[in-house]
Amino acid sequence: MFDILFRNAKVIDGTGNPWFYGDVGVEGGTVAAVLPPGSTARARRVEDVDGKALCPGFVDGHSHSELPLLAGEIMDCKIMQGVTTENLGLDGMSLAPIKDGDKADWKKHLSGLAGTLDVPWTWNSFAEYLDCLQAAKPPLNVSSYVGLGTVRLSVMGMTDRPAEGHEIRAMRDLVARCMDEGARGISAGLIYPPSRYQSLEETVAVAKAAAAHGGIYDVHMRNEADAIAESVEEVIAISERSGIPAMITHFKIRGKKNWGRSAALIRRIDEARAAGIDVTMAQYPYTAGSTFLHVVIPPWYHSRGVDGLLRALREERGAIKHDLD
Ligand SMILES: [Zn+2]
Repeated sequence: MFDILFRNAKVIDGTGNPWFYGDVGVEGGTVAAVLPPGSTARARRVEDVDGKALCPGFVDGHSHSELPLLAGEIMDCKIMQGVTTENLGLDGMSLAPIKDGDKADWKKHLSGLAGTLDVPWTWNSFAEYLDCLQAAKPPLNVSSYVGLGTVRLSVMGMTDRPAEGHEIRAMRDLVARCMDEGARGISAGLIYPPSRYQSLEETVAVAKAAAAHGGIYDVHMRNEADAIAESVEEVIAISERSGIPAMITHFKIRGKKNWGRSAALIRRIDEARAAGIDVTMAQYPYTAGSTFLHVVIPPWYHSRGVDGLLRALREERGAIKHDLD
């Protein structure tokens, strides 16, 4: 006797198999059996779904829902689309680990993407952050990367200079600890300060710590327009030199003059894979993009923090306009 039996479903099992008609029995909240249609199995509740598609929940692998989840929102915008798992901490920016002194600035820095929901940030470590998420009783499954920008902020602040040996070691140790505490990998946002100040050497060294813990490297590339080929090479080099599986997040190419270059880039990724380098890509199914407006301001204006940036916008407008050009 099942708890629920879905009858006459068009079953799409998520493995890549062709769909088929069938009945699906659920017991204790998990799929207990997939049966040929018209089964005589009994259940406490029977739902005749009349040929509608029945499939596992979708995973939103690139989500920025941190604050709504912490605020206890019901997330019907995701659930009604069939999303049952959200993965957070993308583009080099997670909400943990974070020191008390960095919270106010980081909140402001992220607000263009994360929103401004007023949630108390009571955590410091990644483990404490996951506990807060759990306590907020999210209505779907949640996992998170630890952002390399967040890690760099903890160790070096917003400075744009290269990391020194002891700082790289500190970032490596912090990543290792976050992985132990439940992060599923690291993310980078190589257009977003402070993640964008990371050199290849720095990233390789830190990525090794995540790789040793079974993590992956999910990366918003340094350039998604004219310099996209160089950016793909950077990702391949990071994966090759650190041994971490790398995933290019929201793979796209911006700028009309770059239209048509995707074939060559996908070929390059196939080539790297054939050579044993674990590089993959993810893509969203529409032709728009969105990001912080502050990303159009050259990175050297971000190295003094949000208040420094706001001051520069008031006092150094001429220089900023010049640098934008
Ligand atoms: Zn993103």
